[in-house]
Amino acid sequence: MDWVKKPPIIVVLGHVDHGKTSLLDYIRKTNVALKEAGGITQKIGAYEIEYKGEKMTFIDTPGHEAFAMLRQRGAKFADIGILVIAADEGVKEQTKESLEYLKIFKIPFIIALNKIDKKDADPEKVLAQLVELEVIPEKWGGEIPTINVSAKTGEGIDDLLETIILLRDIYEMKTKINGLGRGYILEAFKDPKRGILASLIVTEGVVKLGDFLITQSSLAKIKIMEDDLGRKINEAYPSKPILVGNFDVLPSAGEEFKIGQEKDIENIRKELEEKEKTYIRKHIFVKTEEKGDYVLIVRADHLGSLEALENIFLKLSQKLNTNIKIIKQDLGPISLEDVELAKEFGAIILSFNVKNFKNILDHIKNLNIKFIESNVIYELEEKLESLIKGEEIKELLPKGELEVLATFSKTKTKKTIGGRVVLGRIKLKDKVIILRNGEIMGRGKIISLEKNKILVEEVKENELCGLIIETTKDIEINDIIRIE
Ligand code: GDP
Repeated sequence: MDWVKKPPIIVVLGHVDHGKTSLLDYIRKTNVALKEAGGITQKIGAYEIEYKGEKMTFIDTPGHEAFAMLRQRGAKFADIGILVIAADEGVKEQTKESLEYLKIFKIPFIIALNKIDKKDADPEKVLAQLVELEVIPEKWGGEIPTINVSAKTGEGIDDLLETIILLRDIYEMKTKINGLGRGYILEAFKDPKRGILASLIVTEGVVKLGDFLITQSSLAKIKIMEDDLGRKINEAYPSKPILVGNFDVLPSAGEEFKIGQEKDIENIRKELEEKEKTYIRKHIFVKTEEKGDYVLIVRADHLGSLEALENIFLKLSQKLNTNIKIIKQDLGPISLEDVELAKEFGAIILSFNVKNFKNILDHIKNLNIKFIESNVIYELEEKLESLIKGEEIKELLPKGELEVLATFSKTKTKKTIGGRVVLGRIKLKDKVIILRNGEIMGRGKIISLEKNKILVEEVKENELCGLIIETTKDIEINDIIRIE
């Protein structure tokens, strides 16, 4: 076996508008020998560059889409992450999410503090924000390299590329170049003239023209093979992104492929399928084989919360002498797939500190799926406990949400507003959370409630009402008032 230094495969992540696409474009523009290819390039989901004689490949699908693929299938083809943070804006929601992904997949990463050319760029402030998230920059004694860059002027980009090579060496990223190739599908599409094509990335071994390329769902006897500059090639080594033709059916993005003999196709398929299943069981967390008196699907804002919740379920299992099992846990809002899974396995869906989509919540309601949502851990625990004890499940649905349509008078501690109940019902004296764009702005209590100018105790879904909320926080139009 010939182990060689692997050209690193790099994925770029970060908050929207922080400059991922600009950075990818700048690196491509300045480091790909376009002239050599007659100026023709094709977008195949990744591109290869050569910097000071070292090859590297950039995944051209910025951020979340690429990671959705990694997450769902365990397509762990990225060797290094670049987390882009705009130095004028600092850490944002998707920055935190990206950090979670990098942690889950244990991908070494570099932080690119972008837009350094801007007057209000304040990289030191961003470093301090990172420390709060337990990401300690190298220059402050930690392990994470941070580099000031500008995707506009190109400042710092050489430094960034050099740090990539450094990380490859520190982590001794190696691969085999002999033997049958394997790798991952990036994208697949149908071309009216050339049939089904897929772009893919080789992670090990060699892929040759004429080989059988096998995935779980598809097969290609390779007749077309091109690089990211549209040139015909006969073979591809790690970490080359290539376009391959002659597939029988469309493969899915993120699927692993292997090169093999025709007679081994079925065995290879089984092997790939088993590998993906094992991954999913272990990491993304669907463990449908788990049996318990109560099975849960858990959604939370970040990994720390998932861990805290796991401990709570363990404690409850012991306290109530019952068997509570998690069949799936994941970050972010409840998905349609979760609902299907809950239906199939009679699971309870728990949602902690995430903003869910209204249509999904309606779907849960319609299907009568047991559901608990809360932004407070102990409350979630209490609700689950009462559910297990057989108390009324309806009570456990989110009690009510109101959308603020108008704001009237306000004092330091009292805000008068008008709105429509968009979910459930709200009652006088209810404690509430004030949400803006899914983030908690503050808490309060309904101290007056009226419908058609008449004082009432309760307002139901779709009804309009006026209310006074006791809170020190300001309330704005479009805010959501959610009953705690
Ligand atoms: P993405 O959503 O993360 O892919 O962000 P884009 O690459 O689309 O960039 C968002 C905006 O920021 C665009 O208007 C870019 O022109 C601008 N931008 C990106 N990088 C820089 C930079 O380094 N300096 C300045 N001044 N603007 C930048």
